[in-house]
Amino acid sequence: VKAWVSIMYGCNNFCSYCIVPYVRGRERSRDPQCVLQEVRELVAAGYKDITLLGQNVNSYGKGLPEDITFAALLRMLDAVPGDYRIRFMTSHPKDATRELIDTIANSAHISRHLHLPVQSGSNSILAQMNRKYTVEDYLSLIAYAKRRMPEMTYSSDIIVGFPGETEEDFQKMMKLIHDVRFDNSFSFIFSPRPGTPAANLADDTPHEVKLRRLQELQAVINRNILEISQERVGTVQRLLVEGLSKRDGNELMGRTECNRVVNFPGHERLIGQLIDVKITEARTYTLRGEVVMQESGQA
Ligand code: SF4
Repeated sequence: VKAWVSIMYGCNNFCSYCIVPYVRGRERSRDPQCVLQEVRELVAAGYKDITLLGQNVNSYGKGLPEDITFAALLRMLDAVPGDYRIRFMTSHPKDATRELIDTIANSAHISRHLHLPVQSGSNSILAQMNRKYTVEDYLSLIAYAKRRMPEMTYSSDIIVGFPGETEEDFQKMMKLIHDVRFDNSFSFIFSPRPGTPAANLADDTPHEVKLRRLQELQAVINRNILEISQERVGTVQRLLVEGLSKRDGNELMGRTECNRVVNFPGHERLIGQLIDVKITEARTYTLRGEVVMQESGQA
C-alpha cells in the first residue's frame, strides 16, 4: 500500500557537515511526465501512500528543459483521481516556498504534514553549516503555513553540538522548538563526516555537554508530542491501515496524515484501506482509536 518514487537525484547544496553532494553528484530531476505516469500506475494498482523522494525535493525542476517547480509537479500529481495520499521528503528550507504551502492547502491528496529540517536555531551556526537561510526565514514560512492550514503538523531534523555551538546558540534552538511546536523530530549529536568542511572545524564542547543538550531538547520535543497527541483525543483522523499492531497482534495499526501510529481493534479486511478512526487515548508516540462506522455499518 506504500510506494516511493524518486523524482530527483543528487544535491547541489554542500551543507558543511554532509557527504551527499560528493558521493551522489549534482542535482538531476526526472522528467515530470515520467513521474506523472509512474504515480498514475501506482494509484491504479491500489497504492494508497506515495512518497516522492529526493535530497532536496524543493529544488525539483532546475535544469529541466521545461519551466517547472516542485509545487507545479505536485499540482500535476494531485490531479490524478483516486483515494490516496502524497508525501514528500526531504525539503530544504531555503527552497521551500509559499507557492508550495498554497499548493498543499489547495490539494486533495497531499498530506498536511511538513518535514522541514531546520538543523539549528542559531543564525551563526546555520551560516557555519552553509544552510543559506536564517531562523527568521524559517519561522516566517512556518507562520504562513500555520495561517493557511491550522491542522498542519511539522517535524524536523536537528543537529546538537555542531562545532562552536555555544549555550546561547543552544538556547536559541530551544526557543525555536517552542515556537514551532514540532510534532516529531530526528535529533542527533554532531558526528563529523571525513572529507566534509565541518570535520575540520575546531570543536571544544565536551561530549557530556552535548549529551545534556540533546537530552534537554528531546525532553521538550517529547512533551510537545504528548500534548499534541492529547489534543487529538476525540477527533476523527483518516488513517491508512498498514497491518497488524506491533503492540497487540489482535489489533490493527494505521498512520495518520502526520505519520502518527494509531492502534485500534478492527477486521483484517481493513488492511490497505484509508478509513476514519476516532481517537480515544493518547500515548506519547502512539494513539488508540476505534473505527468510525458509516450508516451502512461499513468502516
Ligand atoms: Fe544536500 Fe541535504 Fe546534504 Fe544539505 S544535508 S548537502 S541539502 S543532502
